[in-house]
Amino acid sequence: MSISENVRHVHQKMKQAYEKTEQNKQVQLIGVTKSVSSEVAAELLEAGVTALGENRPEGLADKQAALGRTACEWHFIGTLQTRKVRQVIDRIDVLHSLDRLHLAEEINKRAKQPVDCFVQVNVSGEESKQGIHPTDIHSFLHEVGQYPMIRVIGLMTMAPLTEDEQTIRSVFRSLRHLRDEVAARHLPHAPCTELSMGMSSDYEIAIEEGATYVRVGTVLVQR
Ligand SMILES: *Cc1c(COP(=O)(O)O)cnc(C)c1O
Repeated sequence: MSISENVRHVHQKMKQAYEKTEQNKQVQLIGVTKSVSSEVAAELLEAGVTALGENRPEGLADKQAALGRTACEWHFIGTLQTRKVRQVIDRIDVLHSLDRLHLAEEINKRAKQPVDCFVQVNVSGEESKQGIHPTDIHSFLHEVGQYPMIRVIGLMTMAPLTEDEQTIRSVFRSLRHLRDEVAARHLPHAPCTELSMGMSSDYEIAIEEGATYVRVGTVLVQR
């Protein structure tokens, strides 16, 4: 299939999943281009994708050099090393991986304007996964309140490595409940209305469970 057929296919699947929900908020598709060239990224934009995701500062810089900073929304989806914050922070629209206080502090120091962030949550508790433990989320958000350059727009997670749909679904559902809890507190620095969850293998499940942003790479870029 061509890139534009992939995009059409994913949009259609997203719509079908969305129609099963009672949600009234549109779901945003982030095309993850970390493993492809700028040419492929350009094809995604031509096919109607409006947001791209990269997980390394170098990848982000390359794509922006080729496509232009204003070609689309730019989302940083990978672990961000503290020493690379300066390189990245004013080039992105959304950070999906705020996972430690020290990172918030560094962003606060470097950013020229407030940054929309997702707090990454390790819902499944796997050792290998980045993210704040669910029981620590409220204290983490309290601490983040001291940094005026951080605006927490939502929570992000990665599903565990399993094919078991019920397990994946329950992780996404837990994140939604946590998001609802935080949103109900109406923290000025953390409106927390969004949910970033779902990748190529599970974006439909994620949408059924309330995702407002899905991060999809493989199924969009494969030929
Ligand atoms: C690579 C990546 C994705 C996209 O994964 P695919 O399985 O290729 O769709 C989404 N989110 C994060 C954090 C990633 O690193």
